[in-house]
Amino acid sequence: MNILVTGGTGFIGSNLCRELVKQGHQVFCLDNNYTGSLDNVQELMDKSEFCFIEHDICNRLDSIEKLQGVKLDRIYNLACPASPPAYQGKHSLDTTKTCVYGAFNVLDLAIKHDAVILQASTSEVYGDPLVHPQKETYLGNVNPNGIRACYDEGKRCAESIFFDYSRHMGAKIKVIRIFNTYGTFMAPDDGRVVSNFICQALEGKDITIYGDGSQTRSFCFVDDLVRGIIAMMESDTSFTGPVNLGNPGEFTIKELAEKVVAKIDTPSKVVYKDLPSDDPKVRRPDIALAKEKLGWEPVIKLDEGLDKSIAYFKQKLVKLGRIK
Ligand code: NAD
Ligand code: UDP
Repeated sequence: MNILVTGGTGFIGSNLCRELVKQGHQVFCLDNNYTGSLDNVQELMDKSEFCFIEHDICNRLDSIEKLQGVKLDRIYNLACPASPPAYQGKHSLDTTKTCVYGAFNVLDLAIKHDAVILQASTSEVYGDPLVHPQKETYLGNVNPNGIRACYDEGKRCAESIFFDYSRHMGAKIKVIRIFNTYGTFMAPDDGRVVSNFICQALEGKDITIYGDGSQTRSFCFVDDLVRGIIAMMESDTSFTGPVNLGNPGEFTIKELAEKVVAKIDTPSKVVYKDLPSDDPKVRRPDIALAKEKLGWEPVIKLDEGLDKSIAYFKQKLVKLGRIK
């Protein structure tokens, strides 16, 4: 198939591109490299089955030269910064634009090609949840004007645009809600908790816990997630989602720090910093729907995923000259 992956040079996108090329598809990887990097797809660049397109999804996609004469079968819309430091602050309005203008632009392209289109939504649509674990039927508890709103409300609005295109324009949509995912090809300076703790420990820097570390997250290794994303895309067209994809194993942030320190021989100390506002206190996916409709569940436990991630970040930091 001809497959477009937006956000293809990012963490999840580059892992997805690798898997789709491995499966024998023709993959068009589109990105503006805001948080992504061509380094993440370096090994694919020479392959005829892979084509990189530099483009911002806030701009229309119908006159992209490299897509002229190509009939797209599938579109995965992953383009959007996902790390709080990357989507907040001076980039917050770009985040909203990417979610909203981007949704219109990718959906118009999907309609033109009659392609099935998958939206990477997020557990952030549940905000700081008052229901635990989170099922797809929970409508969420989002602060509409806080520092996370550009992302949370942007993604919520994107879901509404996807479902209106499905209801009124005949778009063939699929919506997944991804929970905290980590692993190989995450950027060392991404700013999310797993990459921060591992890189801090490897570089002997302070390990920064925000708040008292009692907040929880459920961490999914990227290989499990990619399998779930493709299973959703290839499921019966009548199943639109939204469907949760994540690993229900739940840990406090303090437990995560302890695990990382136990795995890396490091002089690093744990230090406590202010908790950013609106930081969700708990998060765990209910994945009953994914199990039922996709036959999917994660198989990689946190310890195994951390070992793989540590090995990845070690060689990455050596390559960057940050450790020996
Ligand atoms: P990432 O930051 O590594 O990847 C995002 C990619 O999108 C980057 O390559 C970035 O350059 C690109 N991008 C951003 N704005 C763009 C624009 N306007 N036009 C074109 N490209 C643009 O993050 P990730 O973790 O790989 O996240 C991928 C997707 O999955 C995002 O949509 C994110 O919201 C979603 N998601 C991720 C997680 C997670 O835990 N990793 C959780 C929930 C949802
Ligand atoms: N966090 C932390 N130290 C860090 C980075 C993050 O304690 O260096 C905390 C953050 O406050 C949140 C959790 O770890 O409670 C997960 O943060 P992340 O940015 O990875 O993802 P989120 O789920 O908040 O989007």
